Formats: sequence, C-alpha cells, structure tokens
Amino acid sequence: MASTVPSIERAARGVTSASVLDFLRRPKRLLIGGKWVTAKSGKTFETINPANEEVLALVPEGDKADVDEAVKTARKAYEYGKWPTINPHQRAKYLLTIADLIEKHVDELAILETLNNGMAISLARGFTLMAADTFRYYAGWATKIYGETNPSDPSMFNYTLREPVGVCGQIIPWNGPIAMLAWKIAPALACGNVSILKPAEQTPLTALRIGELILEADLPEGVVNIITGYGETAGAAIASHPDIDKVAFTGSTEVGKLILQASSGNLKRVSLELGGKSPNIVFPDADLEDAVPTSLMGFCMLSGQVCCAGTRVFVQSDFHDRFVDHLTRYASKVKAGDPLDASTMVGPLVSKEQFNRVNGYIGAGKNEGAKTAIGGEVRTGKGFFVDPTIFTDVKNSMRIAREEIFGPVAAVIPFKDENDAVFQGNDTTYGLAAAVWTRDVSRAFRVARAIKAGTVWVNCYNNIDPISPFGGYKQSGIGRELGKHSLDLYTQIKSVYVKL
Ligand code: NAP
Ligand code: MG
Repeated sequence: MASTVPSIERAARGVTSASVLDFLRRPKRLLIGGKWVTAKSGKTFETINPANEEVLALVPEGDKADVDEAVKTARKAYEYGKWPTINPHQRAKYLLTIADLIEKHVDELAILETLNNGMAISLARGFTLMAADTFRYYAGWATKIYGETNPSDPSMFNYTLREPVGVCGQIIPWNGPIAMLAWKIAPALACGNVSILKPAEQTPLTALRIGELILEADLPEGVVNIITGYGETAGAAIASHPDIDKVAFTGSTEVGKLILQASSGNLKRVSLELGGKSPNIVFPDADLEDAVPTSLMGFCMLSGQVCCAGTRVFVQSDFHDRFVDHLTRYASKVKAGDPLDASTMVGPLVSKEQFNRVNGYIGAGKNEGAKTAIGGEVRTGKGFFVDPTIFTDVKNSMRIAREEIFGPVAAVIPFKDENDAVFQGNDTTYGLAAAVWTRDVSRAFRVARAIKAGTVWVNCYNNIDPISPFGGYKQSGIGRELGKHSLDLYTQIKSVYVKL
C-alpha cells in the first residue's frame, strides 16, 4: 500500500488552476454503479508527475474483486436498466452532454493530462478537444445504426437488427489517456453497450475526472464504470472475466496476445490496437519545408510514445545526406522541456521504466553500429527527459529498426528506388501506419496502395480524425476503431425470419 502523502504543491508546481488543485486534493475512488468507492482491498498506489517525479495523488488499486463488482452492476444496467433500449435520440443527447462537459473543462483536463502523462500542454489540449469531437461524432451514429431487409422468399419476411454486444471491458494505455477513453467509451455507448474502463496505471487521473463529468451528465448508473489498478490484476480480470462480452484493448503487442488468450474462456469478442514501427518514406521531390519538420514531429510528438510514430525514416540514397542534414538542424532546436510551457513541443517520457527502456534502445543502436546524428545522451536530473535522437547508418535488420522503442528516436535508412522503399517499409512484423512524401501524384498513390498498413499519410503525418478508421495490419492489431467501423466492434447482428 502506498504511504507517501503527496505534496500537491511540489508535484503540480506552476499550476494555478483552482479546479485542477481541487481535483488533486479530493480522494480518488473507483467508479462502480454510479458511486465512488474505495478498492475492496483498501490498497492504493501512487501516481506521479513524470516532469518532476513527485507524487500527484494516491489512486485505488482495484483488482479482481472490484472488477467482479463492476461486472455485476454493469450487467444489471445492461439487462434491466434503460440504457440499451432508450430512445436513440436520448442516447445521443447524453453523448453530446459529455462532449460539451469535456470541452467546457478543456483547460483543466489538459493540465491534468500533462501533469500525469508529461505530454506537451498544446498536445494535451488538442487530444482533449478530439475526445469531445469523438463523443459528438458517435452521438450522431446513435440514431443511424440500421439493420436491413433481405430479399427472402415471398412467403417470408427477413430482416436484421444491429444490437449491442453487452458488457464491454475497455483497457487503455497511458500514451493518450483522454483520447483513448473517448475512442472506447463513445462508440460503445452509442451502440447501447455498457462499459468497464481500466486506465493505465501510470495515468489514471483524467479518466477519474471524466468519470465525474459523466456522472454530471446524469448517465444511468452502472453504464460507465472505471477501475484504476494494475494490468496484471485488474486488467487480467477484465480480459478473462466470464461475464464480460467484449474486450477492447490498446497497448503493447505483447499484452495484446495475452488478452487474446485470456478471452478464449468465454470467447468474448476482442479488438486490439497495438504497436507499430511505421515507415515514413521520403523521395527527393518532397517539399522539404514541410517534410522535415513534419517527419521530426512524426517521431517526436508525445516524446515518440505514439503507436503510429514514424520511427523508420526511409530516404532515397542520393538525397539521404541532404535530408539528414536538414532533419538534424531542425531537431537541434527541439529539446525536451517543461510540458506545461506553451512553447514546449516535447515533454518527458511517462515513467522511469520508459526512460530506461528508451535509453537502453539508444545504447543498443550504438552497439549495433548505428551512428547518432543528434541526441543519444542520457540526461540526468529530475524528470524523464529524452531529447530527439536520430540514428544513421542503420540497417532495417537492427533492433532499433525492428522493435517499438516508444521514445523520440528515429532510424534513418537509405533506399535505392520506389520498389526498395516499399520492400523495406513492409519488412516489419507491424503494420499500423506509414507515410510517403513526394510531389509525384502517381507515385504517391502507388506507394499508398503497396504499403501494408492501416493508415497511410501522403505529404503529412499523424493526422487522425474520429471520422476515419484507425487500426493495424499484421501484428498491429485486430479490428478498426473510429469511423463507422467502431459500430462493427460494438454491435452484433440478429437475423429475424417472419412467416407471412
Ligand atoms: P501495456 O502493458 O500493453 O499497457 C496497456 C494497458 O494494458 C494498461 O492499462 C495495462 O495496465 C494493461 N495490461 C497490462 N498487462 C495486462 C494483462 N496481462 N491483462 C490485461 N491488461 C493488461 O503497455 P505498457 O507496459 O504500458 O508499455 C510497454 C510498451 O508497450 C511500450 O514501451 C510501448 O512499446 C508499448 N505501448 C504501445 C501502445 C500503443 O498505443 N500501441 C500504448 C502503450 C504502450 P498497466 O498500466 O497496469 O500495465
Ligand atoms: Mg504495463
């Protein structure tokens, strides 16, 4: 059990927002059945500010017993409550209210997200607004979930209904907590499901605050439940629970495989949004003014802790040195710094564990013979800061080109021609995203088609909109979230035959 009493003044240094400080001072609880409760075990754990390593709050350590309780109340809300069968216009209204509340509290939520995750405040604001948009987008779908009538024998009438799946377990990572919460909860609710959400152990705070906003929106009790706790206990209990109908997971490929195994007990539906090692392919005719800064942020946004980060930068050989020169010059202006400062682009990594992991990979890159064009030094002092690091002399077979580092680290790899770029780009076990930079329209379309990835950006990077599907080829996942595709994850189809 955690014992340190947090000093909010130290942990949230520089924050003057009364609502943020009030929230940090309030005791943290689990949200089960519309009520805030302590973990049955009474245990709590510390959550920190990765910019200064101070404890921000003590959070309940929910485990299997709490998950069981949440499943009971969620099941009751689903089977006997009004949520799955209320008028869809009413359901849309609830989602719109949540969206409005998130937007109304954007500053407060963004500060909390930055304090707990370390992401630059400008990014935290952007993610929070995207979360509001996600709720609005799925509010629109609540009234547009259609079945079909089928051309059956004239003596029969056959139609289909699209019905909710039921109780959904939703396990999210720490890299975009508010956005991930919205990607999970909004479509699940729009389709009439109920949710049990487990935020990541590193970043539980914004989910708890949004839990308060969800209660303010007056959602029927038990429709949204929030269990903070560890993956190995609370998360595993969700994945294997016999009375959870569906699990949606975002996180590492390694844990994704465990979720799939754990789901087999009751054959619950599974959707997985996993890691990546995305190729960002730059041809010599690219607009350098745009390609250079965007490619840099392609692997530095959120300190590179982004599943779709463009961490393998492929550059045509005859253009390689010039591009690396420009990229390095840009990178030299971007130092990891105070994430609450509005001008900061790169904050700290989320945890000591990530800091060690990323620095470990940087060491591995050097050992394998790659050269650092910039960065690569281990920073000392408080906070888990890693500066943008660019490796050259990288072969696509090296660990730094194959494994997900999840830090602001890129491997620049030369290619001979278009075929070679596509071949090397696809030479990975992942397939989440990719980008191609060229002014040649035909080449852009050809490469976009040839790359095996769930999202391809042409002359841009990291653009994500709730209207468009997101998810992975190969070991980057199963299923697509966002767009109308989330409806497939959160509904099931019933065929009804009526004898005339
Ligand atoms: P992770 O373990 O996959 O965490 C994702 C979520 O799954 C968290 O809520 C986690 O809880 C939970 N979890 C962990 N083990 C579980 C289990 N056995 N059953 C059910 N749920 C479980 O990721 P991580 O440990 O935070 O990060 C490790 C690496 O994963 C990163 O370095 C990065 O490469 C990758 N990653 C990828 C993404 C992505 O968006 N694709 C996101 C995060 C991390 P806890 O928080 O308690 O672990
Ligand atoms: Mg973990």
